[in-house]
Amino acid sequence: MSKIEHVSEAIGRHDKDCDTCDVLIIGAGPVGLSMSLSLRGAGLDVRLFERQTLKSIEDPQFDGREIALSHRSVEILQKLGAWARIPEADISPLKSANVMNGQSQACLHFNAKAVGADKLGFFVSNNLIRRALYEEHEQKNQAALIADAEATSIHTSSSGAVVTLADGRALRGKLLIAADTRFSASRRCAGISASIHDFGKTMIVSRMKLERLHDHIAWECFLPGGAVAVLPLNDGEASIVQTFAPEEAARHMALNLDDYAGASAKRLKHRFGAFHPVSERFSYPLVGVYSNRFVGPAFALIGDAAVGMHPVTAHGFNLGVQGQDILARKIQLAVSQGKNFAGNSILVAYERAHRKLSGPLYWSTLALAELYSHNSLPARFARRAMFDAGRVLSPARHVIMKSLTQPLGSTAY
Ligand SMILES: Cc1cc2nc3c(=O)[nH]c(=O)nc-3n(C[C@H](O)[C@H](O)[C@H](O)COP(=O)(O)OP(=O)(O)OC[C@H]3O[C@@H](n4cnc5c(N)ncnc54)[C@H](O)[C@@H]3O)c2cc1C
Repeated sequence: MSKIEHVSEAIGRHDKDCDTCDVLIIGAGPVGLSMSLSLRGAGLDVRLFERQTLKSIEDPQFDGREIALSHRSVEILQKLGAWARIPEADISPLKSANVMNGQSQACLHFNAKAVGADKLGFFVSNNLIRRALYEEHEQKNQAALIADAEATSIHTSSSGAVVTLADGRALRGKLLIAADTRFSASRRCAGISASIHDFGKTMIVSRMKLERLHDHIAWECFLPGGAVAVLPLNDGEASIVQTFAPEEAARHMALNLDDYAGASAKRLKHRFGAFHPVSERFSYPLVGVYSNRFVGPAFALIGDAAVGMHPVTAHGFNLGVQGQDILARKIQLAVSQGKNFAGNSILVAYERAHRKLSGPLYWSTLALAELYSHNSLPARFARRAMFDAGRVLSPARHVIMKSLTQPLGSTAY
């Protein structure tokens, strides 16, 4: 995590040689790039800084994440011009999903047809989403992206923001938007607290070829030692996602790839036959973050910096891309009406809308993930009761399915 200092004298110190623009964005991850693209056409001068090198932004490498995109996210990516840049062969449809409690036959179905859709969503690798956004960004916003530029201090006040970079350059803007990971240093620097939940688990993800057909149905199984999910991809491949206690995860990461594939297939009682490794493994600590405020004077948090979801309900990027869309619409409307686009009323309206969208999903996901990460007797009873009754989960299940399949047009921001 980078350390950003809140430098109160920064404005004064750099005032004379400060480069000035309208909007500063920290972080060219998928949400920061989307934000910058969303603001094109608004007539604003936007600068986007990213601490990574240009080479790693231009050619993002596979990181094991297969992002389950909701219909709304696909619409936004289409609007931004990025969707058409993703090769069709790399877009895997998700027809339905089954969630199982241990090895019991009880199964919760998430079926798109139940909410009037033919697919729940689409899987696309995170690096391909990032590449598509970057390519579109470079085609349309050439001057805006500054790579190899780590923000080390920020100053925000109602009159604007100044960001200082590690090389000493300073930039002033009317609005600062931070999309700098769930461990956002600028959030902390702006004095915004967050509810942080460490699940004490590690997730391991990798691609495997399955011996049996998955028919584009996802499976998630909650086992005593942690969850295992089979996310269906094209060509009979799947992303195998497993959660373990950290020590157990380290043991699995140390196995050779074939042994790891064998252990994974066995954990699922060979329901899909043998597994053959297609990619390396990647591990991620499981930490959920919900920022207690999304905005401050001339400052807004978006993406994981605002809401860092547990991946179990596949909503982190989906919420991030929708959140930036909400903020961009508010900014564009203000500009078109000649209002101050960085004003408090605009930012508060964004915060209100994004909280309404993200709050129920974040807290219900947290409760589900927490319940399924414990193996105590009460937790086992509670899980069993949920599956057997199918009652308590039904509303949450409906919320999740609706949020995956609902088109953007049906959303009033
Ligand atoms: C295993 C796994 C599976 C997932 N599956 C799904 C899924 O199915 N569906 C879904 O919707 N989401 C999923 N997610 C979540 C999704 O990946 C994230 O929500 C998304 O990547 C967040 O994007 P972001 O741009 O907000 O942040 P990030 O991708 O974290 O990007 C932040 C960027 O900011 C840069 N940065 C940070 N600090 C600074 C600084 N000081 N100066 C300059 N630059 C800085 C970083 O280098 C980085 O490039 C998954 C996550 C994981 C780990």
